[in-house]
Amino acid sequence: MRGHAEIAGAGFAGLTVATALARLGWSVRVHERAPEPRADGAGIFLWENGLRVLAELGLERTVLARSHSAAAWEDRDERGAQIGLRPFPLPGDLRMVTMIRQDLHAPLLEAARGAGVSVETGSRVVGADPDGALLTDDGARWPADVAIGADGIGSHVRDSLGLLRERTQFEAIRIIRFTVPLSRAPGSSGQWRNYVDHWNLGARRRVLYVPCNADDLYLMLAAGSEDAPAVAHPLDAGVWCASFPLLEPVLRKLPAAPHTDRYDTVRVDAWSRGRGAIVGDAAHAMPPTIGQGAGTAMTNALALAGALDRAPDRDAIAAALVAWEQSERAETDATQATSVARLETLFPRAGERRDSWGSQPLRAASR
Ligand SMILES: Cc1cc2nc3c(=O)[nH]c(=O)nc-3n(C[C@H](O)[C@H](O)[C@H](O)COP(=O)(O)OP(=O)(O)OC[C@H]3O[C@@H](n4cnc5c(N)ncnc54)[C@H](O)[C@@H]3O)c2cc1C
Repeated sequence: MRGHAEIAGAGFAGLTVATALARLGWSVRVHERAPEPRADGAGIFLWENGLRVLAELGLERTVLARSHSAAAWEDRDERGAQIGLRPFPLPGDLRMVTMIRQDLHAPLLEAARGAGVSVETGSRVVGADPDGALLTDDGARWPADVAIGADGIGSHVRDSLGLLRERTQFEAIRIIRFTVPLSRAPGSSGQWRNYVDHWNLGARRRVLYVPCNADDLYLMLAAGSEDAPAVAHPLDAGVWCASFPLLEPVLRKLPAAPHTDRYDTVRVDAWSRGRGAIVGDAAHAMPPTIGQGAGTAMTNALALAGALDRAPDRDAIAAALVAWEQSERAETDATQATSVARLETLFPRAGERRDSWGSQPLRAASR
């Protein structure tokens, strides 16, 4: 059918389903609370499944042109000794690439607008009703054939539809994310162009080193929440340089107030109620331990557009949403379960080597 969709959230999930529906002939409006849609949070890993969604939307080449594809993922201890090596390409020629988040978000936004999606900025969604309407904080009701909550981890659409089962925060670890110029790296080949997880096992601190393109280096620092010197505001570069002396050239100057996070997980009873649906982090936020949050969000968002388009008429939409969940949920739950389980073994044990991805990350990537 060719219907009308109201979508909350111009993130990776919202823009994917919006563009796909608009290209299928639907009229689509996206409500974004921010004055201008954009993606914060420094860099991002995108696996094969996310790249396949981009290919489907005709955006793969644009995004890859401003991305980085490393020869290997390495793990190194605080002295720089290699404790793991996972070369690319992955088995089955599966790819994993990195980019600055904005370099993924901007082409998605442009594609949505190009497909005729209307993006209402500064429009804050406060809920949805299962008859297929979004509600905004100015008291307006936006009726549609389907109302979609792609409004992220704190989704009001999800909560107003009564779908939330549990939201858990992993309090033990604090994450700090930012970018620095890649030119600060001490070398321009080998490990300086690989993705390298640096572990200080004694201090229980981590620096994930991620080149994202020719110019930008994404650094993700992690430490225990109780590790006050490491998580202090403003960040103390000396503390991190002392733990990772080999990274001193890139850690010497740190942003005072970078993006900080904890690992969150969202579990829901269902992905829809009536003609209201949720997609992306709203439905299945997961810790980024296998880098699948956005990829899974985009994969499910594309599948959602297909399921809606196959509904013969408005009366069949609720059933189409149930069928969509039935086809995508088991894999999504398995990906989320692996992501959560990996939190328990985040830091390598003494003497452990990390030379394989394990089966679920590769399975998730090949969706
Ligand atoms: C530390 C960290 C590292 C990560 N690394 C990776 C990685 O490497 N690879 C990966 O695939 N995933 C990663 N993720 C997960 C990834 O960021 C998310 O899964 C992804 O952003 C989810 O996309 P989304 O569109 O569902 O939600 P979001 O990206 O959160 O987008 C939601 C959008 O909705 C808008 N919005 C929110 N509320 C409202 C409202 N009430 N009204 C209107 N608009 C609203 C927001 O402004 C935003 O634009 C990471 C997450 C964290 C915390």
